[in-house]
Amino acid sequence: MRPTGPVLLLTPGPTPIHPRALAAMQWPMRGHMDPEVFAYNDGIVRDLRSLYGAEPDAFAALLAGTGSLGMEAGLANLLQPGERLLVASNGVFGDRMASMGRRLGAEVRVVTAEPGAPIDPQDLRRATEAFDPKVVALVHGETSTGVLNPMTELAAVVRAHGALLSVDAVTTVGMMPFAMEELGVDYAYTGSQKCLSAPPGLAPVAVGRRAMEAIDARTEPVTTWYADLPSMRAYWDPDGARAYHHTIPVQLHWATGEAIRAALEEGIEVREARVRRLGAAVLAALGPEGFRPYVAEPHRLPTVLALLPPAGLDEARIRRALREAHAISVTGGLGPTAGRIWRLGLMGENARYGHYLRLMRALAQLLDAPALPDRFAEVARGTVVDAAEAEAAEAEIEQETVRRAVAS
Ligand code: PLP
Repeated sequence: MRPTGPVLLLTPGPTPIHPRALAAMQWPMRGHMDPEVFAYNDGIVRDLRSLYGAEPDAFAALLAGTGSLGMEAGLANLLQPGERLLVASNGVFGDRMASMGRRLGAEVRVVTAEPGAPIDPQDLRRATEAFDPKVVALVHGETSTGVLNPMTELAAVVRAHGALLSVDAVTTVGMMPFAMEELGVDYAYTGSQKCLSAPPGLAPVAVGRRAMEAIDARTEPVTTWYADLPSMRAYWDPDGARAYHHTIPVQLHWATGEAIRAALEEGIEVREARVRRLGAAVLAALGPEGFRPYVAEPHRLPTVLALLPPAGLDEARIRRALREAHAISVTGGLGPTAGRIWRLGLMGENARYGHYLRLMRALAQLLDAPALPDRFAEVARGTVVDAAEAEAAEAEIEQETVRRAVAS
């Protein structure tokens, strides 16, 4: 059965696909060894270095898998069995790293923080000194709780110790500045479906010089054949042999390449301002209805707004009604926050005024809160959108309402 029609994804990934990425998926198919594909990939490498703020000669690539492959590839390449991995975990994705490290045969220790709280750099410093890890892995923005970890301070701790640093940038890179070289991050990754708003299926990664040297110095082959970065380098490196490693998903490369371009052309600072202003307007609108932020500033992740619903609200019922009656998808909690919070995605193409105005109108009905859309529009006008953009968004919502009425 085909899907019934468009659903507005206000989830913390996947996000609505950027129109430029969607159009690129219709580009003609090419073989993975085609010269035009190599030329296109070279452009992606240049763009990824700039997206990550990586060294000019950093290795960058799209791995053919989701964000979790990006996570696993880093650990599998940087660690040999028996070596030490310190994970800073304050949610589901930090825990995933620790689980992967154990499966790879590393000796793993975890430094934690309460759900909703950031990792304390002093805790990380103490754990690093006591455990003396080869690699420290941390999550920049923890999607399960909406916490932004203090990357600059945490990276400084790891740098001072000399360990290699792997950073999960899944909810941040592409929407917020990421200074890999400056901070001394050795390996970073994301998923194509998050802040870039391409379809899921690729993990854009960047590997710094120090990390590559450590990988090249391994005495044993990388534990997983598929994620062996030195073998992939021969395919990706313009000065390399252009040797086949695996059949890359060409259409996803076109789409993700265009999504990265679109992000860089919009400007990362502009995108960060867009998401912060929109998030503030959403909070200002929902606050009087009893929604409260789950995370205190300055540790609130701008791209995943975690909200505690009003006491007594059957939050799961409202989310079901949003999906069924309004074709809007909103996510609940995950792991420690399951059943407790809503997580509103403000990444890439879901951070748009018109999308959130649609949510406010739907919630106005479901929560019997008629003032909600106007309150949101009032705050957003002048900060998020100008009058013409607001009008265009309204017209688009009218068209969508008509389309849905005709379809039903
Ligand atoms: N890391 C973080 C912070 C995430 O939010 C996610 C997915 O939500 C992942 C890793 C895993 O990505 P994927 O689901 O694309 O494998």
